[in-house]
Amino acid sequence: MANGAVTMRSRLENHARSLPSSRRERYCGLVNYGNTCYANSIIQALYFCEPFRREVLTFFAELQRRRERGRRTKSGVALGDLIPDNYPYRNNQAGYRENVLTALADLFAELHGLKGKNSNGPVVSVSVAALARHSPNTGVLDGTVLAPQTATYTGLVEPRNFIARVRQTSDLFAGYMHHDSHEFLNFLLNQCSELLKEEHRMHLLASEPSQGGVSSEEQFTTFVERIFQGELVNETRCLGCETITRREEHFLDLSLDIEQHSSISACLRNFSAHEMLRSGDKFYCNVCRTLQEAEKRMLIRRVPQVLALHLKRFKFLEANMKLLYKKLNYRISFPMELRVCNVSDDAEDVDGLYELFSVVVHVGAGPSHGHYVTLAKSSGGIWMLYDDDQVEVVEDYSLQEVFGISESGQSVTGSCSSDCGYILFYIRRDAESSNGANDCEHHPVA
Ligand SMILES: [Zn+2]
Repeated sequence: MANGAVTMRSRLENHARSLPSSRRERYCGLVNYGNTCYANSIIQALYFCEPFRREVLTFFAELQRRRERGRRTKSGVALGDLIPDNYPYRNNQAGYRENVLTALADLFAELHGLKGKNSNGPVVSVSVAALARHSPNTGVLDGTVLAPQTATYTGLVEPRNFIARVRQTSDLFAGYMHHDSHEFLNFLLNQCSELLKEEHRMHLLASEPSQGGVSSEEQFTTFVERIFQGELVNETRCLGCETITRREEHFLDLSLDIEQHSSISACLRNFSAHEMLRSGDKFYCNVCRTLQEAEKRMLIRRVPQVLALHLKRFKFLEANMKLLYKKLNYRISFPMELRVCNVSDDAEDVDGLYELFSVVVHVGAGPSHGHYVTLAKSSGGIWMLYDDDQVEVVEDYSLQEVFGISESGQSVTGSCSSDCGYILFYIRRDAESSNGANDCEHHPVA
């Protein structure tokens, strides 16, 4: 057993060392603090989302600089002074706020070997000056700076502070219960985005107090939105007058209904299928000025850089006159490369080809007593399995093992396991080349 662990570790070490230094990364397990696999699985999936990791580590670099400088703004006002007393994330006299985002940044830095203890014991500390070397064009740290500054590429990280901060911030995740990893993903992305906006507003307030901090708030897009946000268009055609009403909405991920023996492409087509609005569900047409039967569908108008797809595997089902909350182990195949076809006629960038880089997997029978693990692709193209503190190299066919179970009760590989892909993360193939090139937005520096 011990020998196996050593072999695995050295295999991971060798893999990391075989990569060019700018693409070198660390493979660390995360300690579980009692049912926190819902959070650990999402952290690993997001850590292996390259543009997100780069932005969070850049945020960390600036956070460190702020911590060291005591955060004085140009106008001589400490940002901390501008935070109202009842602001939920107000921290201390140091003038910066510790919140879910700063805790995530610290955690990513530790996963990346930029701070904290590495597996050999010594505390790693990278100079802020080194971290703050920005790529002049993009404002984002370059790959060389972000290469792990450590001698070992494997380890175990304790996300204690991050989990504590999450429990303190959200009533939903306050207890020690099992939670839904999709709900956690939503919480985390929205929370980070809101904090970045809040920070931007504070920055405007500090730099142009007369403007009241509202001048360019409207156009401000956070890196979370820039990476994950896409746009849907909801089209409703009145069957009385044929008028088409269009309503746009943003999304950070798509939740897809599933059917037995299906594929992600079929789920996406189904997501955009025509739906009839009739009888009790009629549509009020502004042209006809009355309730009318209508045909409705949802199409993607702008595809995001990173497409997160959530499979609705947990459902209330009626059985024996009772409503039961059940897990659907349906077999849903998903490809390594995905072309999104359910786009609207006026969509920008229609031919986006996506590549799978991470899958959050639900293991076990039910929604309330299961377990989450993550399959993630390393920079070198090797797939890893992250199961809390355990990290393993896996073969590509492991992905097929989490498609789910067919009617015959077996998975593709013949096993009867109930491990099912739950959240899939795809990245635009061309995203790497365009990423950062026109990213003028940057979170403010005090
Ligand atoms: Zn009408």
